[in-house]
Amino acid sequence: MTEGPRIDLFSDTQTRPSRPMREAMASAEVGDEQLGEDPSVRTLCAMVADLLGKEDALFLPSGTMCNEVAYRAHTQPGDEIILHETSHAVHYEVGGPAALSGVALRTLPGERGIFTAAQVRSAVRDGAPHAQRSRLVSVENTTNIGGGAVWPIDMLDAVADAARERGLATHMDGARLMNAVVASGQPAAAFARGYDSAWIDLSKGLGAPVGGVLAGSRDFIAEALRFKHQFGGAMRQAGIIAAAGIYALRHNVSRLAEDHANAQRFARLIAPIDGIELATDAIETNMIYFDVSGTGLTAPQAAERLLKRGVRIGAVSERRMRAVTHLDVDAAGVEEAAQALAAVAQAAARS
Ligand SMILES: *Cc1c(COP(=O)(O)O)cnc(C)c1O
Repeated sequence: MTEGPRIDLFSDTQTRPSRPMREAMASAEVGDEQLGEDPSVRTLCAMVADLLGKEDALFLPSGTMCNEVAYRAHTQPGDEIILHETSHAVHYEVGGPAALSGVALRTLPGERGIFTAAQVRSAVRDGAPHAQRSRLVSVENTTNIGGGAVWPIDMLDAVADAARERGLATHMDGARLMNAVVASGQPAAAFARGYDSAWIDLSKGLGAPVGGVLAGSRDFIAEALRFKHQFGGAMRQAGIIAAAGIYALRHNVSRLAEDHANAQRFARLIAPIDGIELATDAIETNMIYFDVSGTGLTAPQAAERLLKRGVRIGAVSERRMRAVTHLDVDAAGVEEAAQALAAVAQAAARS
């Protein structure tokens, strides 16, 4: 293994496949995925379709491709997607919706990455011949830049109803949906019930190395499959990586509660540090955003000093940092990371 930071809270994408996960991968049954002949991929897709309460599912190489393939399948060029201004697709997909689907994005504000049915109703265009066509509402659950917040199911249902009333399709970016499930005790299918398409990421807190699974109706998945091929996402003996996803769904879901407890622990330990301010009152899942400007350091400076102490936490702006807990950092690691942050803040105050 290469030498990295001792404690890596940069993202839950930093998880590495465990030994038993690797063993499951090594012994996976495989076939030609592109021809629909890989038994492990088929098992994984059936598991996720069932989990999300949908008819069918599609294995894709990344969560980003889940969003982009879904957007392409739901829309025509010139259409408009309504989504939160902090959405992953707005900031971290290299303009994919415009480049790959030719669509416009209509962004909505709202606390913690969440918006309301009333906002959707007023954002839907009226069908005038000179207006782009509102076609899709896309939500993120949990919210990422929104701080790992869990959408209340009644708000998700209301947003989906508002979309459907106006003939719009609905999509859920569920990169961290299983964190919402574990935090709330509500089943994944309940969160996804109003949504025509929904996906989960295997390579975040679930701890698999690669992949996302997009679910929806049989017709939607048939259409999405065309764009999976067109975007170059069809694979061959992908059972090797699907096996990691199957392992993750069987073994790594309920343990997300530990990540949530560690996030709370970290927030509790850093809240009293002079110069540190938590960005949100409630830590609902595995993310902690905090402002370091009171220490006199910028966030990138604090990140660099933490790294010298073996702790990696990302700077998301000049003032703010984001720590994300996951299965490769335990309670002791989180405590050590908080101590390192306290030491960095104290050293800055002395200088
Ligand atoms: C990480 C993430 C994605 C993209 O997933 P990748 O597997 O990294 O491509 C999409 N949406 C959200 C909310 C994410 O956090």
